[in-house]
Amino acid sequence: MSARMGSETAPPGRHAAGLFAAAAPHREGNGNTLHTPVLVLNASYEPINVCAARRALVLVLKGVAMTEEENGHFLHAARIAMRVPSVIRLLEYRRIPHQSRALSRKNILLRDRNTCQYCAAVLPSSELTLDHVIPRSRGGSSTWENLVACCHPCNRRKGNQSPGEAGMKLTREPRAFNLHTSRHIMRLMGRSDDKWRKYLFY
Ligand SMILES: [Zn+2]
Repeated sequence: MSARMGSETAPPGRHAAGLFAAAAPHREGNGNTLHTPVLVLNASYEPINVCAARRALVLVLKGVAMTEEENGHFLHAARIAMRVPSVIRLLEYRRIPHQSRALSRKNILLRDRNTCQYCAAVLPSSELTLDHVIPRSRGGSSTWENLVACCHPCNRRKGNQSPGEAGMKLTREPRAFNLHTSRHIMRLMGRSDDKWRKYLFY
């Protein structure tokens, strides 16, 4: 299995996710319990991903992962009360291809830190699109090196041109998401959660 955890477990997970969606979660703390980031460790304790608490709970309920650390909040759904994890660990080791992660919109926005790579505006994911640096119509491929986060105004302005033709400049060269980049991002995401520290070494 690849690092694309999101898609491979999605179909069976949807049912369990619906359980939480149907029952209004009992809100404790900041009320965003289901969206709190949770660090995902491989069976070897190597940090491999970050997911939302809702998804982490689904993985735990399905027996795919176990809770290593809790965040102190409870989620009440149906007749169960679950402690919301802060860190989970997969029970079966997954081989993560070295230096590669799933090429996805989510991961490109993560790599680019939700920043338009032309005008440097930092925006919510919903206000960003993916830009093919060399347009697809010109043979540009959908790769880490040719896809960047881009705001809608910049995307419209660039149209079907290369950055040079549009008089635009990338703020930095797009690169594949390597392990170093992803650790860095995991640290940024876990800034407020001390329980992540011992797994990310900072
Ligand atoms: Zn922009």
